[in-house]
Amino acid sequence: ICASVDEEASAKVAATSAESGGPTIFDKIILKKIPSSIVYEDETVLAFRDVSPQAPVHVLVIPKIKDGLTQLGKAEPRHSEILGHLLFAAKVVAEKEGVVDNFRVVINNGPGACQSVYHLHLHVLGGRQMKWPPG
Ligand code: C5P
Repeated sequence: ICASVDEEASAKVAATSAESGGPTIFDKIILKKIPSSIVYEDETVLAFRDVSPQAPVHVLVIPKIKDGLTQLGKAEPRHSEILGHLLFAAKVVAEKEGVVDNFRVVINNGPGACQSVYHLHLHVLGGRQMKWPPG
């Protein structure tokens, strides 16, 4: 339902990592140990193109420091500022990508919502007509 068989296997690895709050592939992207196509970056957030785009524009916006934010459902009051900043960064990304008048922001929370990487991330999707409700 969520992804291909290979991706399901990596989702299980990620889920194990989530339980421990351990590192994910996004840490390597933040540290630039693996390459990514960066769209926007500032002191606290990084936005890069999704390797498996689901729309002509598909960018992930993540906090550079996870601080326990494996998923939105783990957010605490101390995270309010970074959560607001992530959402504003999503709008900046949409502007930079030329889709600010028509775009969607998605956060998948937990396996039932097809979350596969346990480091909070916002999907910014645009460049095509979206459907509602989402699958
Ligand atoms: O919401 P979810 O956890 O499923 O989203 C994770 C996203 O991270 C996927 O869209 C996947 O394509 C992307 N990804 C990536 N680069 C990686 C690993 C995953 O862009 N190296």
